[in-house]
Amino acid sequence: HAYKAMHLVQKSGYNNFQFFVREDERVLDRKIKIEQGLKKALHKNEFELYYQPQVHLKSKRIVGVEALLRWKHPELGNISPYEFVPVAESTGMIIPIGKWVIQEACKQIRLWQSSGIRIKIAVNVSALQFEDHHFIELVNESLSQNLLPPKYLELEITESVMQKINQSFAIIGKLKNIGIKVSIDDFGTGYSSLSVLSNLPIDVIKIDKSFVHRMMNNTNTASVVKTIIEMGSNLNFELIAEGIETEEQAEFLIENGCHIGQGYLYSRPVTKHEIEKLLNQESVV
Ligand code: C2E
Ligand code: MG
Ligand code: MG
Ligand code: MG
Repeated sequence: HAYKAMHLVQKSGYNNFQFFVREDERVLDRKIKIEQGLKKALHKNEFELYYQPQVHLKSKRIVGVEALLRWKHPELGNISPYEFVPVAESTGMIIPIGKWVIQEACKQIRLWQSSGIRIKIAVNVSALQFEDHHFIELVNESLSQNLLPPKYLELEITESVMQKINQSFAIIGKLKNIGIKVSIDDFGTGYSSLSVLSNLPIDVIKIDKSFVHRMMNNTNTASVVKTIIEMGSNLNFELIAEGIETEEQAEFLIENGCHIGQGYLYSRPVTKHEIEKLLNQESVV
């Protein structure tokens, strides 16, 4: 990557060359720090799960939570999973990190159950992790070690998993046999169509937040959202909208038949202590 950048700018003169190399070094330096940091992060207990409520839009009752990984790098501070997850994927570190996430989520559901809170957790799973040979074993163990009925765990995969359709079919089938629900995250941003999904034993479609953000100002986006909801319902998928920030968006979704959602309107992802407070209330507001 660095090499390519140098090559490109060399053509446009010496000064630019200097500027770009320095810029690129900074990017590279950060990437190396993240890469190195990720190797030690598990041992150093630097990860934490945050939780964002999934809400029944009309009643504002919490029907589940999504676990979202947080990492505080000792030198760089908080780093977004949008930045470190791809690095963890490219180095293979996503396998042990993803394992920690599932185990931690299962422990947490167990703890909540013992205190009388019965709630399901949705966990994000990277395509690499999903295809790992030990994945099903890990899921089974995490459930049994915590004496958890499988209905409390939901797994979120992205459309990229669908690229290996035959392999995915088999793994999703095994998860279904265990009794675990599978969601397609960020739906609409990849290449899979609803017709492909209809052949997979998927339970939930999560409408990507980019659609939700645009749908009130863009009639085409509004049509796309309506179509996803209509076809999704006809194919018996549960629908969850992501990224709801305004009452207007929530109303549009309800009117068009999507009844569950997440977003800053209800709550940002919060620590386990903060989510416990929300879970002990009747609804998010
Ligand atoms: P995602 O699974 O699609 O999660 C939704 C993201 O949207 C989260 O970002 C969440 O904080 C953010 N979000 C929620 N409500 C709103 C809203 O109303 N407005 C806006 N603008 N954003 C909202 P986050 O926590 O930074 O995570 C980013 C992505 O990183 C996740 O997207 C997921 O793909 C990945 N990720 C997070 N945790 C894990 C993990 O444990 N394992 C794996 N493999 N990936 C993870
Ligand atoms: Mg997700
Ligand atoms: Mg995602
Ligand atoms: Mg998403």
